[in-house]
Amino acid sequence: MTGADFLVLGGGIAGLSAAARLARYGKVVVLEAEEALGYHSSGRSVSFSHFGIGNGAVRGMTAWSRPFFEHPPEGFGDSPIARPMATIYMAGEAQLAALDALAADMATYTDAVERIGVERLLALCPVVRTGGDHAVAGLYDPTGLKLEAAALLQGFARLVRAAGSQVLNGRRAASITRRGDAWEVTTEGGEMFSAPILVNAAGAWADRVAAMAGVAPIGLQPKRRTIIVVDPPAGMEIASWPFVHSVGGDFYMLPEAGQILVSPVDEVDDEPSDAAPEEYDTALTAYQLEQYTTLTVTRIAHRWAGLRSFVADRTPTAGFDADAPGFFWLAGQGGYGLQTAPAMAAIVEALATGGGWPDGLEALGVRPEQITPERLRSGSSQAAAT
Ligand SMILES: Cc1cc2nc3c(=O)[nH]c(=O)nc-3n(C[C@H](O)[C@H](O)[C@H](O)COP(=O)(O)OP(=O)(O)OC[C@H]3O[C@@H](n4cnc5c(N)ncnc54)[C@H](O)[C@@H]3O)c2cc1C
Repeated sequence: MTGADFLVLGGGIAGLSAAARLARYGKVVVLEAEEALGYHSSGRSVSFSHFGIGNGAVRGMTAWSRPFFEHPPEGFGDSPIARPMATIYMAGEAQLAALDALAADMATYTDAVERIGVERLLALCPVVRTGGDHAVAGLYDPTGLKLEAAALLQGFARLVRAAGSQVLNGRRAASITRRGDAWEVTTEGGEMFSAPILVNAAGAWADRVAAMAGVAPIGLQPKRRTIIVVDPPAGMEIASWPFVHSVGGDFYMLPEAGQILVSPVDEVDDEPSDAAPEEYDTALTAYQLEQYTTLTVTRIAHRWAGLRSFVADRTPTAGFDADAPGFFWLAGQGGYGLQTAPAMAAIVEALATGGGWPDGLEALGVRPEQITPERLRSGSSQAAAT
């Protein structure tokens, strides 16, 4: 039996970023089921940080997390983890009100967002379809950051190990029992681990992990998203393109290593699994690229799908379960788990160690009652209000 102060189940961005914080307080053991870190959602993300997504709490956590990406801490590693990349949102005539609403939502967090016309849209990305039924206006946000998921995962794992704690791959928790003041976890391989605090950072599997521990679920719904990768036409320079979105939420694309990543921004209910793209969603993605741009898809170079897991109010959840001593939820990061990870990790540190709410988060509109698991329990007045 390996003893620790904190056991973290899940070696995705949530578990690793929280573990790096908790390792300052005692011994942490991260148990990751797969052989590679970030094999599921964290390794399938398009890895962007921007203010165009999520509710107020998510945008507040995004803002709080920015300095971390711009200036990672000592010992995080030498690989770059973020580079500036603008975002644009394009709107047709019927979507101008939606464009205004988005601009107002983003204005709380950045004053750099500008309304732009067709000429500027085309200067930023010459292949977008404009005029008539297509884009007639856009929003330009120069403050986007393209994150490097692999470097982030490795950087957090490095901090954990440097503090004398452990990140163990290929350790799938198969049973979880509360014995005395500790949670005991037995892996599929028969190894046993024990700690007074168990952090459930199992991504799409978080409700299943809770069930294993006899803890009531929080109502997590994994939703599948599809990405295809296509080559640009020969000779076309795409490196300077921004991250291009439709304001209606049915298309995005961005340049990545000389190719174009495209999504129909789908959210298909799925089970916790090794998600794979469906034929229909792949075809829809190619169709949307041809609708929103003048590009023609002749070959799909690569495709994948990943799960974005949400609770009812789409706000990430962190906190001890009121009915299970020492059982800490860290789940429901939806489509923003990378860009909010530094803030969520600071929240985990505060709540799991009895520290104060992280400085500056409340001023950005992020309060404990928005993320507590208790808001999701049936009968809770907050659950009713959301
Ligand atoms: C296509 C796509 C695009 C996205 N784009 C962005 C973006 O631009 N910006 C952004 O911020 N976010 C984005 N996201 C969302 C982001 O990827 C997720 O919010 C984030 O990765 C969730 O992290 P996680 O650690 O909770 O989950 P995961 O990375 O899935 O980690 C959970 C881990 O728990 C492990 N696990 C499960 N059960 C057990 C068990 N019994 N024992 C041990 N380990 C277990 C799993 O193997 C898994 O590795 C995107 C997601 C997708 C799919």
